[in-house]
Amino acid sequence: MKIGFIGLGNMGGPMAANLVAAGHTVTGFDLAAEPPEGVAKAASAAEAATGADVVITMLPNGAILKTVAAEIIPAMHSGAVFLDCSTVDVESARAVATDAEAAGLQPLDAPVSGGITGAAAGTLTFMVGGSDTAFAAVADLFDVMGQKAVLCGPSGNGQAAKICNNMILGATMIATCEAFALADKLGLDRQAMFDVVSTSSGYSWTMNAYCPAPGIGPKSPADNGYAPGFAADLMLKDLRLSQQAAEAVDADTPMGLRATELYADFVEQEDGAGKDFSAMLPRFESRRRPA
Ligand code: NAD
Repeated sequence: MKIGFIGLGNMGGPMAANLVAAGHTVTGFDLAAEPPEGVAKAASAAEAATGADVVITMLPNGAILKTVAAEIIPAMHSGAVFLDCSTVDVESARAVATDAEAAGLQPLDAPVSGGITGAAAGTLTFMVGGSDTAFAAVADLFDVMGQKAVLCGPSGNGQAAKICNNMILGATMIATCEAFALADKLGLDRQAMFDVVSTSSGYSWTMNAYCPAPGIGPKSPADNGYAPGFAADLMLKDLRLSQQAAEAVDADTPMGLRATELYADFVEQEDGAGKDFSAMLPRFESRRRPA
């Protein structure tokens, strides 16, 4: 396939490289990052999109996505697929999809989980919103860049699935960290805590697969000085998107709200910026119950 790729950063760069390795012709554009080997460099987003069967975007946020969409939609040919893999707010995703459809394009919102290692290894999971036809048209590309793609319904539903998943993840990580900190203060050995909880009803992905306590459970960022992994900054971004969405549809998400507040404190007031999102555990070790 002839693919345009816009946004060649930490995620987009390796995703584009995997498409080239699978034999696709990729033309890329980024304001700052250099294209990986084998990706032709375009002078603008519109140039990367011109003549492409599929244009993939992997950008920081909804405002930037909307700006780029306004540049590339007029350059794309009718029937081409506009595949946005960025994590953005549901409203921006739906607005971009409406504009793309009006121009005769096939939009898909397909945010990913799996992080930088998943992008490099081609093992991402795609959560997809859009039509069956568009989904089928790029199924081969999902296979190259990922291990799984789930069609979640119409446009915007991919983003909805992503932020609901990450709202659970953020709240669960905090619950896991605060439980370890309580166990410490109660004199309960961390290994015993893990052995019990990981096989009891308190088990979760954050405990069993990504344990925030160093030296406990399978290898995780806690064993590497809390280098990300999944950065607390990105968790905060996704939690804020969840709260923006909750406000828009009047949904009550008190745990999501509290998780957002705690990660905002951690990243913006404390020392959490640049650390893995599981680095909440040392933070709780030194905290006392608020008066
Ligand atoms: P990044 O900052 O490394 O890459 C974004 C790229 O977009 C940058 O290279 C930047 O120069 C480029 N860009 C910005 N504005 C542009 C424009 N107008 N035209 C062209 N290029 C432009 O970010 P990333 O880590 O690659 O993340 C990309 C998206 O993937 C984000 O939405 C993020 O939330 C999501 N995501 C990231 C991870 C992760 O672990 N990094 C995991 C899941 C999802």
